[in-house]
Amino acid sequence: MESILVLTHGNETAALTRASLEAVGAGMELASWLGGSLTIGIVGRETEAAAEMLAASGARLLAVSGEAFAQARYASDAAACQAICIAAQAGIVLAPQSARLARVMAGVAHRLGGVVDTHVSVVEGGEPVAATRWFYRQRVEAVLTRSARPWFLMLDAGTHAPFAGAAGAAAVEPVAVELPQMRTMVTGLWAPQQDVQTIRPEAKLLFVAGAGWTKKQADGEVHASEAGDVIREFLRRSGASLGSSKSLVDQGGEGQPVLPFLTHLNQVGQTGATPRHPKGLATCCHGEEPHVVGWRFIGERRAVSLDPNCGWTRGKADVVYVADAFAVMAKVNALLAAKEG
Ligand SMILES: Cc1cc2nc3c(=O)[nH]c(=O)nc-3n(C[C@H](O)[C@H](O)[C@H](O)COP(=O)(O)OP(=O)(O)OC[C@H]3O[C@@H](n4cnc5c(N)ncnc54)[C@H](O)[C@@H]3O)c2cc1C
Repeated sequence: MESILVLTHGNETAALTRASLEAVGAGMELASWLGGSLTIGIVGRETEAAAEMLAASGARLLAVSGEAFAQARYASDAAACQAICIAAQAGIVLAPQSARLARVMAGVAHRLGGVVDTHVSVVEGGEPVAATRWFYRQRVEAVLTRSARPWFLMLDAGTHAPFAGAAGAAAVEPVAVELPQMRTMVTGLWAPQQDVQTIRPEAKLLFVAGAGWTKKQADGEVHASEAGDVIREFLRRSGASLGSSKSLVDQGGEGQPVLPFLTHLNQVGQTGATPRHPKGLATCCHGEEPHVVGWRFIGERRAVSLDPNCGWTRGKADVVYVADAFAVMAKVNALLAAKEG
């Protein structure tokens, strides 16, 4: 019988990240398929709040806590995960593909004589257990099985329903960790402000800005600065994540009008990112195939474009508004402002 361990952690704002809760959801599903036991490991400064969130999971809870584990650092995080894995003696270990755990998991797997697979999107509990992931920029989908144990599976965010059981009192077993000599001191965390940080993987909505925002408009003028204001206001009010077409992010290097808060990290598409958000809204974007392939995992798709023959109208979006995005988004911002009160 397989025993399953899910590794989790929090961040500055949440006791457990959404991706951690998704991994818990996947672990519970797998344990019920296999009839196996489920253990959840928590790493963080304080782990009580996280444990309370997991009370209804019915899993055995192990925690490594203390100041040394407050922030990401290879040596302490690897030691914490290793200690939890040894305490749990699990054959299959699920973990979120977060920056914090992705950095250490290959090392932890190696220390324990195990194997690791990353960017897993599906875990199926059959005989044998199978993990699915994409290769070659989402063109090839592979189903992997392995007999080696422990088998570490890093789950991509947005691929599983997050665990949402009622919070309550939970019994947690503390796990002691013998830390090696620390060469890295974490002196603090600098994070961009919410309105500067535009890539938000956990947002419900992906808002894509296309090159049209910086092109000449009906009055013959470019309104790039107004476009920037409208987009930033929408992001601030909605909490959406900002994606971009390649044309728009490339323009900076070509000496054309730019939106200063966009970088190539925002680019969605064949040579950009393939984000996972439940909904997407494209604006001033033509919806060409190299861009739209990056929307593979976006659930509901809408677009605002002046061109009634753009790619979105050709079956790539569920709803297309043939309209001026400046006017539409100004109206949307006014409605959001009114809703905020
Ligand atoms: C090998 C290769 C890889 C590529 N990889 C990518 C990739 O990863 N991602 C990507 O995005 N592209 C990629 N491309 C480029 C892609 O083919 C397109 O050129 C690009 O997506 C076009 O960007 P756009 O739609 O923003 O710009 P445009 O094609 O210039 O379209 C702008 C649109 O805005 C509309 N518009 C203008 N003003 C308004 C307004 N006021 N209201 C509403 N609509 C308005 C116009 O009607 C037009 O449809 C790649 C191309 C190649 C060859």
